[in-house]
Amino acid sequence: MKTRFCVLFMLIFLAPSEMMAQRRKTIVDIIIKGGTVVTMDGSHRVIEQGAVAVKSGRIVEVGKTAEIDRKYAAREVVNAAGKVVIPGLINGHTHVPMTLFRGIADDLDLQEWLTKYIFPAEAKNVTEDFVRVGARLGLAEMIRSGTTTYCDMYYFEDAIADETFKAGMRGVLGETVIDFPVADNKTYDQGLAYSDRFINKWKGNALIVPAIAPHAPYTVSEDHLKAARALSDKLGAPIVIHISETKREVDDSLKAKGASPVDYLNRIGFLNDRVIAAHVVWPSDEELGLLKRLGVGIVHNPQSNMKLASGTAPVPQMLKENLPVGLGTDGAASNNDLNLWEEMDTAAKLHKLISNDPKVVSAEEAFEMATIRGARALHLDKEIGSIEKGKRADLVIVDLDDLNQTPWYNIYSDLVYASKADDVRTVIIEGRVIMRDRRLLTLNEETIKADARRYRERVVQSVGIKTLPED
Ligand SMILES: [Zn+2]
Repeated sequence: MKTRFCVLFMLIFLAPSEMMAQRRKTIVDIIIKGGTVVTMDGSHRVIEQGAVAVKSGRIVEVGKTAEIDRKYAAREVVNAAGKVVIPGLINGHTHVPMTLFRGIADDLDLQEWLTKYIFPAEAKNVTEDFVRVGARLGLAEMIRSGTTTYCDMYYFEDAIADETFKAGMRGVLGETVIDFPVADNKTYDQGLAYSDRFINKWKGNALIVPAIAPHAPYTVSEDHLKAARALSDKLGAPIVIHISETKREVDDSLKAKGASPVDYLNRIGFLNDRVIAAHVVWPSDEELGLLKRLGVGIVHNPQSNMKLASGTAPVPQMLKENLPVGLGTDGAASNNDLNLWEEMDTAAKLHKLISNDPKVVSAEEAFEMATIRGARALHLDKEIGSIEKGKRADLVIVDLDDLNQTPWYNIYSDLVYASKADDVRTVIIEGRVIMRDRRLLTLNEETIKADARRYRERVVQSVGIKTLPED
């Protein structure tokens, strides 16, 4: 009798109170729970049995799974038990449609590679359709390897923005302007007008940050560089540019302008805290100080610099002085992939070898360059780069039990030295699942590959490339 009364009591009183507790919970869109959360916040917190609550594209809260469970209920729960949850990786420099020139000409120096192969191949092949096909290929490759934001500079950037937005990916996208006729614009003025329209069209978009990208100080005149800066000032848009990539660029600049590229750009009033400078391989100590004072973002591209033998950027010094330096792949023609995991691994190892000091560029620092420090390089660190309340929900779930990851002791060592792009399982950008369990949800891999192969035939015919085996 007593037991029956108790059961009755629980049915009448406890069940409704449990329901009340459920009702008191805040409803969010997604909760990722049970994983090891590598936050990359100010104190680099790593939360075991962690959870992340996401609503309307933003991170609502991050903490222990038990805490998050008490406060939130979600429409979609993603189980990350036994896995690691990281901020989406940031590819700070690429030319995404150049995936279609992957392997077109390798083992050359920058000048020969650019002038004999890349510029002619671009002149004969680049159209809006080419750019769209190449962008889709690059986007798929980046999403599958856990990149959630990339910084681009190419032609027809409006089409790239359209493809990026449709894929659900985040991008800082710069229309390339240069002092010779290119595929989308025949004069510099046309390029500027295109950039003006392009930036106005995409400004304020949740995923796309439109930018202007004067190619380099050696391919764009002083007046034209100033005009690009004026457009950036007028529209508040970032400027993406290559600076000090090779020793030859520095020597030529000293001869022609009496100043190194960084000094010259500073002298003409070009540099500020909206500039994103790719490479910066050959700066002096004073120039690094200048870039720091002005707040210029820097993107290090270790594999591209190694492949073109451009030199070794002083990254240990940049880190010591807390400069905003991120990591990039550069275009697929000089890398030849868009895989940030390899860049992290290479960055950590290259600088140890060059400086003869295994303590420089630790695994944790390399991971930081691919996440929060990379966000600083793109001037987006208030929005992305770490798993923190209020930031945009760009989250990647990575396996932690593959053979190459087992066993693990230090999470950063495991991520940087042992994990591979294939270990990425699920990708969320702006609170939307873009890849689930390695299946792309916004792009069709088979169609992308078929389209790319079609372009390969055209490229081979247009520039007479020798292929192996011979076609
Ligand atoms: Zn580049």
